[in-house]
Amino acid sequence: MFEKILIANRGEIALRIQRACRELGIKTVVVHSQADTEAKYVKLADESVCIGPPPSRESYLNIPAIISAAEVTDAEAIHPGYGFLSENADFAERVERSGFVFIGPKPESIRLMGDKVSAKDTMKKAGVPCVPGSDGALPEDPKECLRIARTVGYPVIIKAAGGGGGRGMRVVHTEAALVNAIAMTRTEAGTAFNNPTVYMEKFLENPRHIEIQVLADEFKNAVYLGERDCSMQRRHQKILEEGPAPGIARRVIEKIGLRCAEACKKIGYRGAGTFEFLYEKGEFYFIEMNTLVQVEHPVTELITGIDIVQEQIRVAAGERLRFKQRDIVISGHAIECRINAEDPYKFTPSPGKITAWHPPGGPGVRVDSHAYSGYSVPPHYDSMIGKVLTYGSTREQAIKRMRIALSEMAVEGISTNLPLHRELLADANFVNGGTSIHYLEHKLSLRKA
Ligand code: ADP
Repeated sequence: MFEKILIANRGEIALRIQRACRELGIKTVVVHSQADTEAKYVKLADESVCIGPPPSRESYLNIPAIISAAEVTDAEAIHPGYGFLSENADFAERVERSGFVFIGPKPESIRLMGDKVSAKDTMKKAGVPCVPGSDGALPEDPKECLRIARTVGYPVIIKAAGGGGGRGMRVVHTEAALVNAIAMTRTEAGTAFNNPTVYMEKFLENPRHIEIQVLADEFKNAVYLGERDCSMQRRHQKILEEGPAPGIARRVIEKIGLRCAEACKKIGYRGAGTFEFLYEKGEFYFIEMNTLVQVEHPVTELITGIDIVQEQIRVAAGERLRFKQRDIVISGHAIECRINAEDPYKFTPSPGKITAWHPPGGPGVRVDSHAYSGYSVPPHYDSMIGKVLTYGSTREQAIKRMRIALSEMAVEGISTNLPLHRELLADANFVNGGTSIHYLEHKLSLRKA
């Protein structure tokens, strides 16, 4: 096992990784920007290194500075967390070439899955069902594109191969709008992702977002850890997640879960990962794979009892997975609410000093957050300041506990989206379960009116 790990991230996930390391008896080095010097989690680490000014570009995305920090502190491995450099294959390669272990998949796997066209192609070959659409990238010839769209059937969605974070997508409802929409998405993708390649998918009108968590080691052992329902989204960004997905039979999940574990073996995948699917009328359609530990991983930890971050570290250290598929038991239900520093109605960011922070507690409550009374939320980064999770033996109990948790929680000095979560937990359609990816936007449009 490693003696010392460098954490190349910030905020709640930097603290989460520290906790996993401490339990495994590993020392931690946290790198941070000048904006995070005073944060408590930075002081909690065994060592910390300032790697640059507040803008991410000059600190959390500064590869040479991160590698130098690992060198001067004698760290053996680097954990990238999520966001920032976590899905950057060049970074993973630089880490390994500099003699450190990258806690994540091999650079080749990150590259393969980072391009959505090659990811879909790989999954199709591995027997994972995909959204019907163009066979690979769209050709230049407009006539050929029109022909493909006719076969797929309108509405279609044009997506950037290099896209991420819900950007680089355009829905097309009619043949007249197609050629122009492809050209516009190409131009945008070229500018935003440095890759003008686009592809076409059937636009599913009312799907749910269901994802499968996997864990794999270097010896071609792979398991799936059940599913999460992340359909509650605003602008393609997840707000609330839960697991298991309400109303989907276990045998249906089992079938797709086993396919995902098999696909991991086929591509020689190592580490934690997530297969994202759209789910409509009983069918799963693969959309992308995330090659990292996701924000919503604690949902799965609560219902499986497995510490995903610790297992990630173990397999990166060359250990074999400690369990087989039959050892994985899903029990109870978990819900996660992402707490963002933002206006709950206009969704504008609300950075600044937290003057009072009262997190909830009690049976079945887990709070993953780096925030505290007196902490200043910097304006430079993502607005998520923590996650509140509840666990119950049934979904009803998890919902009740979440309502209590949200009613106890108080944050002063900045605005948060707590009011939105309280509304969601009281929403009859949410309580019924199984709402589609468009539900939250629809609800918000009514609220504005
Ligand atoms: P990103 O990498 O930017 O997150 P994804 O491919 O994962 O992009 O898609 C993000 C979200 O966009 C999905 O969760 C879903 O809400 C919507 N979406 C993507 N593809 C389709 C599709 N074919 N039909 C309907 N909605 C889609």
